Amino acid sequence: MHKSKVSVLVLLLVLTIERILAQNPIIRDLFTADPAPLVYNDTLFLYTGHDTASIDATNYKMPDWYVFSTSDMVNWTNHGVCLSPKTFSWATGDAYAAQCVFRNGKFFWYVSTFHQNNENSKGGAAIGVAVSERPNGPFKDAIGKALIVNEMTTDMKHSWDDIDPTVFIDENNKAYLFWGNGSCKWVRLKENMVEIEDTIQTFIPKNFIEGPWVYQRNGLYYLVYAGAGNKPEMIEYCTAESPEGPWTYKGIIADNAPNSFTIHPGIIDYKNKTYFFYHNGLLPTGGSYRRSICVDYMYYNPDGTIQKVVQTNVGVKPEN
Ligand code: CA
Repeated sequence: MHKSKVSVLVLLLVLTIERILAQNPIIRDLFTADPAPLVYNDTLFLYTGHDTASIDATNYKMPDWYVFSTSDMVNWTNHGVCLSPKTFSWATGDAYAAQCVFRNGKFFWYVSTFHQNNENSKGGAAIGVAVSERPNGPFKDAIGKALIVNEMTTDMKHSWDDIDPTVFIDENNKAYLFWGNGSCKWVRLKENMVEIEDTIQTFIPKNFIEGPWVYQRNGLYYLVYAGAGNKPEMIEYCTAESPEGPWTYKGIIADNAPNSFTIHPGIIDYKNKTYFFYHNGLLPTGGSYRRSICVDYMYYNPDGTIQKVVQTNVGVKPEN
């Protein structure tokens, strides 16, 4: 065989092996978006949306939410559809971004979808909460109505500003719900996790678009979100001394995701490493409405600031 042909074959072999070893995207047999990780009993559970739009679609089609789990960061168990907007009698819309948290022996899954036009709302985006005693369900509507409806916030003119819930439980057991598109809204939740405690507050972190993710580390509070305005989204963040702010802008964590207009953060510590979940459009036939969840390492500087995440095809290594 000619020497150059051998070189080409060797190159193809190397590329194929790299492809087989590559962990990202981590879910390859369906399109998934909006990752929300949760660690429970040494297992990492990943709550996701599900893209089913056709290849030429110009909008989202997201019928349900999935749960996956892993104990080694590379082998994932698919628990299937564990919740859909059909679970909520008041919902009409798609299954947009969501996050599940554990408290008082129960799993509370906060979701964004759209509301019917009825006595509780004239429609628009709304946030519901489902509850289960197990991380992968069965989940039921915790309150039989939306927790947040569009009319409860009026700072934005569009009817879909009440999306993308994230819930954070502080060390003093105060629980906070953050959410929003266009502006970031937050409110304390009662200990039952299904009622708001007081008045909804609204603010606009620098470049904020949507998709907040709030957590605390070493006494510092982090508000991570999708930002950047009229170009593909990036992930940016603020920090604060309290979950009630004031928040200080700290910069960009992740650049635009390849082949996807949106990107969405889910950050968690697991087995002594920090993981950054997000989505891109890199599966074959993927795109902005056919996204795929990925995970890469995230690193902190000694002062608590976050190093920029390197988005890779290789992804992360197995953990015991
Ligand atoms: Ca609103």
